Amino acid sequence: MHEFSFSIPQDILVGRGTVEKLAAAAKKIGGTHAFIISGPHLTKMGHVKHCADLMAKEGIPSDIFSQTEGNPSVETVAKAAEAFRASGADFIVAFGGGSPMDVAKAVAVVAKYGGSITEYEGGGKVPGDIIPLIAIPTTAGTGSEVTAFSVITDHARNYKLTVFSYKLIPRYAILDADFLTTAPASVAAACGIDAMVHAIESYISRAASPFSDAMAEKALELIGKNIRRYVANRADVEAAEAMLTGSLFAGIAFSWARLGDVHAMSHPVSAYFNVPHGVANAILLPTIMDFNALTDNGKYRKIYNYVSPTPAAADFEPIELVSLLRELNAELGIPASLKEAGVTAEKFDAMADDAMKSGNIAVNPRATTKKDVLALYQKAL
Ligand SMILES: [Zn+2]
Repeated sequence: MHEFSFSIPQDILVGRGTVEKLAAAAKKIGGTHAFIISGPHLTKMGHVKHCADLMAKEGIPSDIFSQTEGNPSVETVAKAAEAFRASGADFIVAFGGGSPMDVAKAVAVVAKYGGSITEYEGGGKVPGDIIPLIAIPTTAGTGSEVTAFSVITDHARNYKLTVFSYKLIPRYAILDADFLTTAPASVAAACGIDAMVHAIESYISRAASPFSDAMAEKALELIGKNIRRYVANRADVEAAEAMLTGSLFAGIAFSWARLGDVHAMSHPVSAYFNVPHGVANAILLPTIMDFNALTDNGKYRKIYNYVSPTPAAADFEPIELVSLLRELNAELGIPASLKEAGVTAEKFDAMADDAMKSGNIAVNPRATTKKDVLALYQKAL
């Protein structure tokens, strides 16, 4: 066993209706004036105003930035950071799916240390503590409420840049499944598979440890048992809560064990073709699990047993997991190929170069070259 370390430097609150404790959470982190970062949908539904009202009742005023988009951009971060500075707020509430979380983390860096988020790309560039964050995820999910990453799209180079620092972990996370019950089926499927990919990639990662394995296994159990049920009926709060908790555990797992080729290769797919993150991951997953099967040391069977409605047979072969994941995609309405998602081959060379820059390639269980990445893109097409 190699050396490993972990810490979970934050408060996490899970349960239906826990958003009501937002003002108490704000006080606990010393916040006196909130800046809420969210998206247009949650604003229209009145949920953003509800968050602001909850804090106003306790004497905490709020300013709101609600213009985050899918695959959020460097420009959006700059705009939100400017609005944050003008507001006089002293903490940020990140409220929504992965996009508002990514923007909020980036704003919390840029608003404190200046410059553009592009200057903090990579690992270890964040100089110190950031503006305190409270994260309230409304999808299950990116797990972004507990991760050390912010992923922002730089349209100038068609590139999704990653900022990695344990300083990015929100101080407080509130996981209230009531927000999940109105998600469209396609969003529930894409986000749910993304969470499952986080659990799988961190589980088979070269940087996996007994700690991350424990998190990944519990995540796989919760997600495997509930993803079909949740996508079929998002109003099923029990399934929604299991998915939210599963994506939380998966987020903790990959903050420590990193990911792999699926995420390395999916970011360029999203950057060049604006395919939603979860959809890009879901399409690539079976192809890459097939590629990684050579390295299997018994974990494929375990994953199979968490995700399949029926247990693996005595003569289980890793390829059966690949087929199961393909079937799951079809059941959940995920496109079967990159081509179906609107991807064309002419950008593959540039995309492979970008994928190779990802730190996730280095921890993928099977050593991966640019040639491999090109072949995998072609196969997934
Ligand atoms: Zn992801």
